[in-house]
Amino acid sequence: MFHSDDRAFDQGQVIHIRSAAPAKPAFGQPCNGCGVCCLAAPCPLGMLLTRRTKGACAVLGWDEAQGLYRCGALSQPRQALQRALPGWLNFLAGPLSMALTRLGRRWIAAGRGCDSQLIATVCPDIADNAPTHSAESHD
Ligand code: SF4
Ligand code: SF4
Repeated sequence: MFHSDDRAFDQGQVIHIRSAAPAKPAFGQPCNGCGVCCLAAPCPLGMLLTRRTKGACAVLGWDEAQGLYRCGALSQPRQALQRALPGWLNFLAGPLSMALTRLGRRWIAAGRGCDSQLIATVCPDIADNAPTHSAESHD
């Protein structure tokens, strides 16, 4: 995932991340689905879909087979829209899902590279048995 935005990250924020997730690559390297950015805060598309501005993005999904995180707006657009739309507009989730996939890929610039400058470190007190990381913004 790649986001051309500056999200408001909390310094020393603790995120819970799957132990099987790949390590976060350096800024500018190909996105590997580590999930760090989306677990720290939703991007503008995530904010729009979830109506939340902080914490892990609710549409972020885990791909068990691949062992990486995936943006649910792209991988499961229909479900993401069903969550986002009020009940009386749920019939639009199907027709709008293709548009969300297309626009979402452009919006988050999927596939271009990692634009997150967060630094993820394993919390030392729980490193033995829990996939918990601390993420810090880095300018
Ligand atoms: S953009 Fe970077 S931090 Fe976000 S999921 Fe991709 S590799 Fe991880
Ligand atoms: S909408 Fe997708 S890319 Fe944006 S924060 Fe959520 S999971 Fe990540």
